[in-house]
Amino acid sequence: MSKLNNAITGYTYDDFLLVPNESWIEAKDVETRSKVSTNHELNIPVISSAMDTVTEAELAIALAHVGGLGVIHRNMTLEQEVNEVRKVKMSGDLTIRDVVTTSPDHSLSSVREIMVEENVSGLPVIDDGKLIGIISKRDIKPLITSDSKKKVKDIMTSDVVTVEDSISPEEALNIAYENKIERLPVVRNDKLVGIITIKDILNHKNYPQASRDKNGNLLVAAATGPFDLERAMALDEAGADIIAIDCAHAHNMNVVNFIEKIKDNISADLLVGNIATPEAAEALISKGVDGIKVGIGPGTICTTRIITGVGVPQLTAVSSVADVANDYDVPVIADGGLRYSGDIAKAIGAGADIVMLGSLLAGTYESPGDVVVMNGRKYKQYRGMGSMGAMTGGFGGGADRYFQEIKGHMKHSKLVPEGVEGAVPYKGTVNEVVFQLVGGLKASMGYCGAKNINDMKEKAKFVKITSSGIKESHPHDLLITNESPNYPTLE
Ligand code: 5GP
Repeated sequence: MSKLNNAITGYTYDDFLLVPNESWIEAKDVETRSKVSTNHELNIPVISSAMDTVTEAELAIALAHVGGLGVIHRNMTLEQEVNEVRKVKMSGDLTIRDVVTTSPDHSLSSVREIMVEENVSGLPVIDDGKLIGIISKRDIKPLITSDSKKKVKDIMTSDVVTVEDSISPEEALNIAYENKIERLPVVRNDKLVGIITIKDILNHKNYPQASRDKNGNLLVAAATGPFDLERAMALDEAGADIIAIDCAHAHNMNVVNFIEKIKDNISADLLVGNIATPEAAEALISKGVDGIKVGIGPGTICTTRIITGVGVPQLTAVSSVADVANDYDVPVIADGGLRYSGDIAKAIGAGADIVMLGSLLAGTYESPGDVVVMNGRKYKQYRGMGSMGAMTGGFGGGADRYFQEIKGHMKHSKLVPEGVEGAVPYKGTVNEVVFQLVGGLKASMGYCGAKNINDMKEKAKFVKITSSGIKESHPHDLLITNESPNYPTLE
């Protein structure tokens, strides 16, 4: 009996509300920048789940554009995951490095063919490895047939305006406008290393909030298994800024003891999870992790708590881990169970620096998979990484998260799933969804009088509520006739 008497009460998002506070700040003025790992900050405190129905390159790019971060899932071959990481890193690069070129003695007709085939409107001219000119569609378009005997060197522009690799988007744009040119060859020691186009510069400037590394490329994180050193090293080599050890129970001491091995072999920051207790936080911090992921069983698709009877309600888990981690300045990521923007505010109020979203992003245009229509409503597939489908349908990436092994054609009857498969309503683009989520968080910070995330972590006060309180919080006693974009009512 004493075991039960000594048990603490575990709470989750629905058990509390944030209490409005004296405030000198309005939603539009709050600052949502937050630390995700030792060396990286994000403009919005949102990262996406490493799940095969949530994060591949397309979603990671969209989320990084609006200031968050995608964690590429690992239910694919190592080569495929490396490729997804590269796609994200390359997409934000101002400089196109894989440039189609021509040489001075090429005929104009062959150049025209290359331009059509490659869908480019200008080609740098290279002689003996050096950039000696540039030729554009405009130069050759008006030519009459007799001229097509001419060579590239006869009409190319030799006086080429070039730039260096380190140029900022603003500088590049100024140079391009001043010289009335659309593309700027990037050179190092007279050798062409790439090309920058006005289109790319403008694209870059369209995302002022984007999460970028020091070279201006988008930030990306990628998941590896708790003992998969080879994958961690390959992802690091491919340029992942953060590697996330993705595991259902990171307080397993074999996992804890393997952390240093991974950390010593990568230059990226290392996030480790999932855990749900202060003791586990101490164990991870003692191994030098760069961020901690919290959540045992709160997720939409999780059945861990039901199948194993194990878990800690998420708000208690987040707050007890944060009590430890905040002292060491190690970022805390609240992973799973967030259904509304208000839950994000509560997670941060309880001490989290960042939230990790699965279901809230699974229904977006950019998540993997197609939109399906059922009963006239649009949906996208969403499944747990410990579901039967994820463990057997991909590359077993979901299985070792739950310490289960996939050997060859594993029989379903030999696996014990800890997740389910389903569908979530289609919600539009990442941009639209994140706008509502961050908008709700900012409004919350305005109510709480918090000017930034740290302020929110310190100032947030909670009131414990009853089931009548929850009932009162949701819209009640009416028929909703117009669905709100941040409050889905029809499932
Ligand atoms: P959501 O945001 O949908 O509530 O939760 C997403 C989180 O659930 C993921 O980031 C991951 O930590 C966790 N998760 C993903 N798949 C499974 C699963 O099959 N079982 C369990 N227990 N957790 C899962």
